[in-house]
Amino acid sequence: MFRSVLIANRGEIACRIARTAKRLGMRTIAVYSEADAGALHVRLCDEAHPIGPAAARESYLVADRLIAVAKSADAQCIHPGYGFLSENAEFAEACGRAGIVFVGPAADAIRAMGLKDRAKALMEKAGVPVVPGYHGDRQEPKFLKEKAYEIGYPVLIKAVAGGGGKGMRRVEKHAEFDAALEAAMREGRAAFGDGRVLVEKYVGAPRHIEIQVFGDRHGNVIHLNERDCSLQRRHQKVIEEAPAPGMTAKLRDAMGAAAVAAAKAVGYVGAGTVEFIADGARGLRADGFWFMEMNTRLQVEHPVTEATTGQDLVEWQFRVAAGEKLTLKQSEVAPQGHAVEARLYAEDAERGFLPSIGKLVALRFPDRADIRIDTGVEEGAEVTAFYDPMIAKVIAHAATRNDALDRLAAALDEIVAAGPRTNLSFLAALCRAPDFRAGRFDTGFIDRNLAALGAVPHALDKAAAATGATRLIETRSTRIAAGTEPDAPASPWDATDAFQLGGERAVSVPVLVDGRLEAARIGYRDGTHVTLDDFAADPAATVVAAGGAAYVLRQGRQTIVRLVEGDALDIDRAEGDGVIRAPMHGKVLAVLVEKGEQVKKGHRLAVVEAMKMEHALTAPLDGLVAEVAVEAGQQVAEGGRIMVIAPAEAAD
Ligand code: ADP
Repeated sequence: MFRSVLIANRGEIACRIARTAKRLGMRTIAVYSEADAGALHVRLCDEAHPIGPAAARESYLVADRLIAVAKSADAQCIHPGYGFLSENAEFAEACGRAGIVFVGPAADAIRAMGLKDRAKALMEKAGVPVVPGYHGDRQEPKFLKEKAYEIGYPVLIKAVAGGGGKGMRRVEKHAEFDAALEAAMREGRAAFGDGRVLVEKYVGAPRHIEIQVFGDRHGNVIHLNERDCSLQRRHQKVIEEAPAPGMTAKLRDAMGAAAVAAAKAVGYVGAGTVEFIADGARGLRADGFWFMEMNTRLQVEHPVTEATTGQDLVEWQFRVAAGEKLTLKQSEVAPQGHAVEARLYAEDAERGFLPSIGKLVALRFPDRADIRIDTGVEEGAEVTAFYDPMIAKVIAHAATRNDALDRLAAALDEIVAAGPRTNLSFLAALCRAPDFRAGRFDTGFIDRNLAALGAVPHALDKAAAATGATRLIETRSTRIAAGTEPDAPASPWDATDAFQLGGERAVSVPVLVDGRLEAARIGYRDGTHVTLDDFAADPAATVVAAGGAAYVLRQGRQTIVRLVEGDALDIDRAEGDGVIRAPMHGKVLAVLVEKGEQVKKGHRLAVVEAMKMEHALTAPLDGLVAEVAVEAGQQVAEGGRIMVIAPAEAAD
């Protein structure tokens, strides 16, 4: 076994790899960007080395620098984790040239599977079923459009270099093909430097079922069963489980054999995942699945396989990389019980799941034997726009699927995460969704059920607002009483200790609730009572006070409350819903309307690129474009004004 490893990654996966490496007695070497100097993975490892600025392109993706650090720190191997350089064939080769073992497959295997078009062609040859479509070299829009017509709509356009759901467009009809093609190509070029695409049949009621495979240098390949990752949003996995609901022994054998054949076709060594799409319209069938792609690395959702097989996949990765034989037999890895993983993200489920950055002012996980938490952040850490905003993976394992889902939902309810918005309540709602529980779901489930899952804009939570205002006002009066608060003479706060003879007296104070100006009412009678539009504080809510704000967690939602000081009062109150703001820090790719133009609700106004994804901003109401505040190409800060839509006069 190796004596030392450099972990060329960050976040939860760097921490998870370090855990196993330490157990195996290795010296663990971390690397970190400027944004990660205080990160958990840095502290978990035996030593840590800086590798550059926050942007991954200048740090975690700089192969030469990682290899230089590995050499100087005397690392025997490099574990790439997932993402970053994990599927970079040149990096794998460079490790080899430097005399360092790359914990992963050979560069050739990575290359063979790296592009979706080539991988499909290779799999076809190996006798693995692939999704019907065009994956040849020709890229003229007219030709591809003809192919799409031949394949039959709906089709899916995929960037051949794509990953993580980027560069993918579903097209319903011929007339929409050109625009979708252009977008997929543009996204592919921007994210992967490769604009080429393939076109394939869009499988109806698709289930995403993938097989974990493992190969060694001695020609052994086995599979460790399937994972069902059908709960997705924008082609990104949200909840994963093993086994797949509705799986039969016959289908598992067929898929397992196809996955092993796929791995063998490229001489695969190490942990890999062969992703299939299955047609779930009439239940899973042994002849109804097709190869989508192979990921030549450890997968985010590997813990559900670990839970159900009792194996440590990272340990096997190290063993196999060190040249050991895979001693596991196919018969020893039959699934035990059921495991489900939920990906906890810093994102705003109510606003299209936009990443939500900022300091995690609170982060507390339940400590339960039946729950595994894989995380790379702690309370006080900053979720930045530089990296994937995942906070943790929460994994439950139980004898049955229902039990596992119940435990997962309960664990999600217990997690306290404040600061950025999170998808906690959305995940819990998913775990409890009756159709999902009953096994009636496919990859479109989330999109079809957004409202039922709570992923739509909610009205202001006034009880939460009153709860937060109560906390802030109490803190404020305590400070005033203690003389530690610089007390402005005209402030309403100095009235808080007034004793009133004439019955109840009340003052109205301005508060910012989720950025909106509201009036809280403080009534003084037998103590102080804060209400907001007659809503009183909810004693069951969790309040986290930080940086002058109160973060109120109530019924799985977060409401941020601030007191408004003096001159902050001129906040534009009349803005309402007509001001279009940048959902996050990014770049304006296109402005699609002009000042003075009439728009209907839902009309596309502008496209903003953020975190390598395109976000279309649409009109929230019918109206007139009253102001356009940006130009294409311009950078915008989160919350920055993009344009203003003046509501159309109501017709009589
Ligand atoms: P990426 O590499 O970006 O993750 P994949 O090819 O793995 O892209 O596809 C991601 C997801 O898109 C799949 O899990 C599945 O839900 C959906 N998908 C892919 N191909 C098809 C298809 N032909 N029909 C329907 N859905 C598909």
